[in-house]
Amino acid sequence: MLYISTRGDAPKVSFTQALLAGLAPDGGLYVPEQMPALSRKALLGFAGTPYVDVAQAVLSPFLDAAPPAAEFRAMLAAAYATFRHKAVTPLVQLDDNLFVLELFHGPTLAFKDVAMQLLARLMDRALREKGQRATIIGATSGDTGAAAIEAFRGLEQVDVFILYPHGRVSDVQRRQMTTVNDDNIHAIALEGTFDDAQAMLKSFFRDKPLREKLGLSGVNSINFARVAAQTVYYFTAAAVLGGPLRPISFTVPTGNFGDILAGYMAGQMGLPIEKLVVATNSNDILARALDTGRYEVRGVHATQSPSMDIQVSSNFERLLFDALDRDSSALRGLMARLDQSGAFDIPARALKKIRENFAAGATDEAQTSAEIARTYRETGILLDPHTAVAVHVARKKLQENPHVPMVALATAHPAKFPDAVRAATGVSAPLPAHLADLFEKPERFDILPNDPQAVQTFILARARAATLAAHGG
Ligand SMILES: *Cc1c(COP(=O)(O)O)cnc(C)c1O
Repeated sequence: MLYISTRGDAPKVSFTQALLAGLAPDGGLYVPEQMPALSRKALLGFAGTPYVDVAQAVLSPFLDAAPPAAEFRAMLAAAYATFRHKAVTPLVQLDDNLFVLELFHGPTLAFKDVAMQLLARLMDRALREKGQRATIIGATSGDTGAAAIEAFRGLEQVDVFILYPHGRVSDVQRRQMTTVNDDNIHAIALEGTFDDAQAMLKSFFRDKPLREKLGLSGVNSINFARVAAQTVYYFTAAAVLGGPLRPISFTVPTGNFGDILAGYMAGQMGLPIEKLVVATNSNDILARALDTGRYEVRGVHATQSPSMDIQVSSNFERLLFDALDRDSSALRGLMARLDQSGAFDIPARALKKIRENFAAGATDEAQTSAEIARTYRETGILLDPHTAVAVHVARKKLQENPHVPMVALATAHPAKFPDAVRAATGVSAPLPAHLADLFEKPERFDILPNDPQAVQTFILARARAATLAAHGG
């Protein structure tokens, strides 16, 4: 399987190259040249099949010859052994025909563990085979940084530097990043905002000599391997609910559009999906775009569901590319307009295609709290605010089509956002046993000024890839 860039101006690459590069050199996102298809027989076989086996069947067509099947299976088994639920991503019923897919049983209590645990193992293996080291620099508003640190800790080939806005992440999120002791992990509290951290990161990636010296690699959700890993749970959930013999709908709490894009890819691979519903908080660029056809950036509002507080959904570019019949020059035109004026209009034909697969809804702060309270009252289940955004939208969409099972994706454990949960229900969600000592462990982090030069100096002094380069190795 080869991968092409959505912008059409970069050489085709292998899975391993796309994995290590993250972004394509022309600024585009990698997508498979052709989406692999799974037969109906294969889909029927997923009923009652363990997660790791489904993962192997779904993901193998995306890989190169390496890793060999037995080794890939062992990597999958190790990645998902870190989850605290035997089913990895169990399905729980909330109401008639309404289900939540719990994606938060991994080590850092957010769905990002599902992809990151596998990504780290794939990257480490690819680098070992090449005899190379890499440096991962990430900017995080919380969940991605914790998931990356947990997944890459202790790995020989990779050093990880995570920039988070000093004083602006929750205590649980911060401690998940700062209480990890391994020498290859560096948590940096930046004296700035998340946008400052992200801008700094982009400037490092644009600096070619620095990029090469550090072997710079990215793990944000534009990395194709992350999206691919997330397709698996759409298949396992559908199998439980009678797919592929009947279509299922999914509602996904959406920020960067990575998670829901994985659902779209599952559909392209042959899974019968009725609708993919984009659920947003008041940062509703996607809901507005689907509604009006105009994709328009506005300011970011801080909400109870901070992992969805975004201005631009990077992965939307992959969907747009397909909806434009993979016309790279048309896509480049839209992206240039977005850069220049902060908006573009989705061409009518592309919008029609998108609406065949997708619907959308937004949830405001009061509705989010009310949903956490309602679900707790009716079922005793505590939802985190991101999941509550999805469940609220899912209930509305289910009314329009009550006979198709609706699965809302639960992307974080309620204990990760205890203040919102307590405010809505009056009860606290306890941390799971493996994190019970989180507040007793010593913290380790460096506070750095909002100055790219200072951050760069700090990283160059500590990254092993840079030390090797300096000594001619
Ligand atoms: C990252 C995240 C999201 C958004 O996922 P995208 O793939 O960026 O759309 C939703 N909920 C939680 C808890 C997250 O951490």
